[in-house]
Amino acid sequence: TLSLASYLLFVRRYLVIVNPVSGQGKGLPTFREKVHPILMEAGVKVELLVTERPGHARSMVSSSNLSEIDGIITVGGDGLLYEVVNGLRCRDDSDRISNIPLGIIATGSGNGLARSVAEYSKEDADYLKNPVLSTTLAAARGKVVPVNLMEVELDGRKIYSFLSVGWGLLADIDVESEVLRAIGESRFTIWSFLRLAKLRHYKAQLSYIPCERVSRDELNGTSRTSLRERDPVFIDGEFISVYSTCQSYIGSDLIFAPKAQPGDGLIHLTYMTKDAGRASATQFLLGIDKGAHLSVSGVSYVTVKEFTIRCAGGINGTITIDGERVTGEEIKIKISPRPLHVFAL
Ligand code: ADP
Ligand code: MG
Repeated sequence: TLSLASYLLFVRRYLVIVNPVSGQGKGLPTFREKVHPILMEAGVKVELLVTERPGHARSMVSSSNLSEIDGIITVGGDGLLYEVVNGLRCRDDSDRISNIPLGIIATGSGNGLARSVAEYSKEDADYLKNPVLSTTLAAARGKVVPVNLMEVELDGRKIYSFLSVGWGLLADIDVESEVLRAIGESRFTIWSFLRLAKLRHYKAQLSYIPCERVSRDELNGTSRTSLRERDPVFIDGEFISVYSTCQSYIGSDLIFAPKAQPGDGLIHLTYMTKDAGRASATQFLLGIDKGAHLSVSGVSYVTVKEFTIRCAGGINGTITIDGERVTGEEIKIKISPRPLHVFAL
């Protein structure tokens, strides 16, 4: 048996934030019945926060004393985690606090990051059988992986995004109905049909810095893979869609960038200009649930380290950051030099 002193050394404290309305509204009972017992068994002490409104988690995380906390667990979907990440990064002591391990107990209707992390650690099959158990075990075990985070500068304001930044067709669909999920499930909805029939074009300048992973062979014996940057690309044009992610899954069942790796420092950027036309736009949407969208003719797919969308007088159409809607004249996205640290099996 452990002495009291060594027990105190081993005890971990997690702040657990539950969104009671996430998913089917079962976040709180799920936590009490399925999650908490396992955490206790693993010697984790829990400080519980049940959110009362949107923005509650963000404001608590941005102002609480976290010096005694060894991890923050969200019980909900990507929206709750988005609040936590942005709350953490806007703190005065964010340099020190940004390494704090984050856990996601997947009870939301959209859990792109939890699914991505499960896939990165080859836990996909177990995650799909029981997402709550799989993510709880990861949090209890306490091992973390670095996960890409994007820094978004929107007219001088800073926002952090761990999932996706989009503009145009797919962003419209993302916001105006939660059809992204529906595409995954039923492949085609009346809603996206209508959107395709009235295909919109949006004028702006898109610029990006292509960047790719270089394997060790190409680098002559250096032991790690590294990133190779290419010359910047500028496109002044009319766009149907610009959509990017830094994870593999952007929704529970929606794989957007099958080649994404944890913490690889790459943004997967897709875009379609007006020339691509309706047929390609349709194929793009239809292909997403199978990962076939990236090879549709007229769809450009590049890995980048940063990209910018700019339009004097304001960017028309919907821009979404992790599903949240924003507006502005210039939006600049780059990989954060400080990744997230997420519990993973
Ligand atoms: P889901 O995956 O089901 O969408 P999320 O955890 O992503 O669940 O949360 C969806 C939204 O609910 C987020 O935008 C979040 O800010 C908001 N939210 C968080 N707590 C509450 C609450 N107590 N009441 C209403 N909305 C909330
Ligand atoms: Mg959500």
